[in-house]
Amino acid sequence: MFITGGVLSSVGKGITTASIGLLLKARGYSVTAIKIDPYINVDAGTMNPFMHGEVYVTEDGGETDLDLGHYERFLDTNLSKKNNITTGQIYMSVIEKERRGVYLGQTVQVIPHITSEIKERIRSVAEESGVDVVLVEIGGTVGDIEGLPFLEAVRQMRLEEGPGRTVFVHVGLVPVLSTTGEQKTKPMQHSVQELRRIGIQPDVIIARSPRPLEEEARFKIALYANLPEEAVFSNPDVDVIYEVPLVLERQGLGSYIVRKLGLEDRKPDLSDWEAFVKRVKEASRPINIAMVGKYTRLKDSYLSIIEAVRHAAASLGLKPVFHWYESTLVEKGKLNPEEVVDGNDAAIVLPGFGSRGAEGKIRVIKAVREAGIPMLGICYGMQLAVVEVARHLAGMEDANTTEIDPSTPYPVIDLLESQRYIRRLGGTMRLGAYPIRLVKGSLVHSLYGRDVVAERHRHRYEVNPKYIDRLEAAGLRVSGYSFDGRVEFVELKDHRFFVGSQPHPEFKSRPMRPAPLFLGLLKAAMEAAR
Ligand code: GLN
Repeated sequence: MFITGGVLSSVGKGITTASIGLLLKARGYSVTAIKIDPYINVDAGTMNPFMHGEVYVTEDGGETDLDLGHYERFLDTNLSKKNNITTGQIYMSVIEKERRGVYLGQTVQVIPHITSEIKERIRSVAEESGVDVVLVEIGGTVGDIEGLPFLEAVRQMRLEEGPGRTVFVHVGLVPVLSTTGEQKTKPMQHSVQELRRIGIQPDVIIARSPRPLEEEARFKIALYANLPEEAVFSNPDVDVIYEVPLVLERQGLGSYIVRKLGLEDRKPDLSDWEAFVKRVKEASRPINIAMVGKYTRLKDSYLSIIEAVRHAAASLGLKPVFHWYESTLVEKGKLNPEEVVDGNDAAIVLPGFGSRGAEGKIRVIKAVREAGIPMLGICYGMQLAVVEVARHLAGMEDANTTEIDPSTPYPVIDLLESQRYIRRLGGTMRLGAYPIRLVKGSLVHSLYGRDVVAERHRHRYEVNPKYIDRLEAAGLRVSGYSFDGRVEFVELKDHRFFVGSQPHPEFKSRPMRPAPLFLGLLKAAMEAAR
């Protein structure tokens, strides 16, 4: 199944793709999903989260587009880095083959060489995963120059796979004019025309609009798209993204697609999902959570963390209220750390890189620690919590991470040994899932309820083992080590909940299986608020 986008980006193609996957899965079909990103970066790892949103890390260490996070959460499956294909990867591989002489004698061209490489990669994911249906979401908008080779490749695939084995779904925006309140279908008509000009006739259209599609609009879209009206579905704005599959199912999208794929239609089982959505919607007790970071302007920078909080909150009947704090404002004297402490039941110190905003985070951590508010520090947030404890509890004045101050007298956070000679920045962090042995008797051990866990990493720096004894003497406890002895989790002994996690537990949180550290944080916050 190929999912294309029309009119403009950010219309929720990723959620739609994930939702369709869920409807197939609920019918007993196995699915996987691929995101195609037509940019030239090899992966999302080198992109600024301000522009691109969070970098989602897969189990096998891929630095991928955040849509893979939607797929994993909706489909409750682990994907590979191979499930995110970019123009950069395609060209890198084709050029490398050209140098090796694989195409000797030929003129290497977009068609057929680039398109063949694209098709090969899609098919290899299909084969390796062995699933019934592969969903391929093509990023960007139909008509973008950089997306053309991908559309051409999937156009060819329809022909090669034979009739009834592919479905094209086009997701586009139907804006509402604020003056007249009218739903306008012209942009959608044009984007379908553009798709057909390339040689792709969509089988299904999904119209994103603030409210359900009106009959008149549906009629027009169907007519101009050369489709029966029953092939046009409506995807209105909803409060909770997890409702989207249910909204689409109610209109019969699941059955329609299954029939188009020539598969037997079965009665879907969405009961767990419905129960989860009900829990989210009915949760009434508010819990205030301070989100402390430097990319707070674009909330997508922390998407998986937000979702992990939502999963944990739903299971506890809590309604999370997020309050965002830009840590650079603390440094500029425009935000008093006490404000973070005042109106919040819990705090999350967010991941990040570089010196901007770091001192602000440290000051917030100090205030939060002293006020006894439950706090979870993730990755950089954990590292800066260790710096804070070193400075203010362990008497190591000017302790720091060497990421900020390479000449600090107390480098409590330092570059991983394996990183010292790395010069290339793409894909070279410590990435992906590694097993962690939890320390018996620690809070983290009791939250996970297991001796060994595996969480996903993305970092270059780590707790400097030389300082573990001094930090432990000051009340910090290491609650988890990697098998090669790296510090993975820390916690403060005399605190309700002061936990630092070097890995990113948010990436493995699922609607029905909240991540234990988030669950622990919210439980502690609930008890403190009582
Ligand atoms: N900048 C830190 C490091 O590289 C933390 C990275 C992160 O928060 N993902 O180790």
